[in-house]
Amino acid sequence: MNIRVLGAHNCERKNFKMVSLLVDDVLAIDAGALTSSLSLEEQRKIKAVLLTHQHYDHVRDIPALAMSLFLGGATTRICSIPAALDVLARNLLNNEIYPDFRHKPEPKPTVSFTVIEPNKAEAIEGYTILAVPVSHSVPAVGYQVTDADGKVMFYAGDAGPGLADCWRQVSPQLLIIEVTASDEYIEWAAGAGHLTPSLLKQELASFQKVKGYLPQVVAIHMNPSLEAEITVEIAAVAKTLDCSITLAYEGMEISL
Ligand SMILES: [Zn+2]
Ligand SMILES: [Zn+2]
Repeated sequence: MNIRVLGAHNCERKNFKMVSLLVDDVLAIDAGALTSSLSLEEQRKIKAVLLTHQHYDHVRDIPALAMSLFLGGATTRICSIPAALDVLARNLLNNEIYPDFRHKPEPKPTVSFTVIEPNKAEAIEGYTILAVPVSHSVPAVGYQVTDADGKVMFYAGDAGPGLADCWRQVSPQLLIIEVTASDEYIEWAAGAGHLTPSLLKQELASFQKVKGYLPQVVAIHMNPSLEAEITVEIAAVAKTLDCSITLAYEGMEISL
């Protein structure tokens, strides 16, 4: 399994893009930086896009991708929980802000929606996908992705403290998990459904307790303005837990 980090941050500015992953060129997860990072040929290879939740930094390239594929004569599937698909249909693909590419062009529309049921493994484009609810300010899931070779990664999406139930359901070799802010903002983060390095430390300790091991960890969704502090604090967490935690960056590739 090859994972490309297209966007590693929670907001966009020069050299920083919003969160997006691409698995083996065919499976995208979250859509904060799909179109700006990929050529038309690369976009055409995306067979499915998994969305963790409805927030703008995770869905905003769906209309742009749909237009690009429409003009390029290709199609894709958008897969998520009902809440996120409803928000997308109501607010972005609504024939006001942009065309509803679920019905355009006929008879073979550019995008189709696939409703994902949490806690139930399903086959999507050759992968076994398990959506697991996480605590955030709106309904949200993380995705465990298992490939045909048995390689397993779990991307938690936007997730705040309290992931023990989630850990019981997943067994990843690689964990991609958000660290939005530095510890200075720990109270805000806990209330908003996000993590800081100290909160991540608690969640990893809980993972170890539940699973008996720690996976390779990649932190994502950083606020670019806080990244220097986050880097220092994450290094201390990795040392304390004696595990590998690296910060994601745009263009990072991870092989499992
Ligand atoms: Zn976010
Ligand atoms: Zn969010």
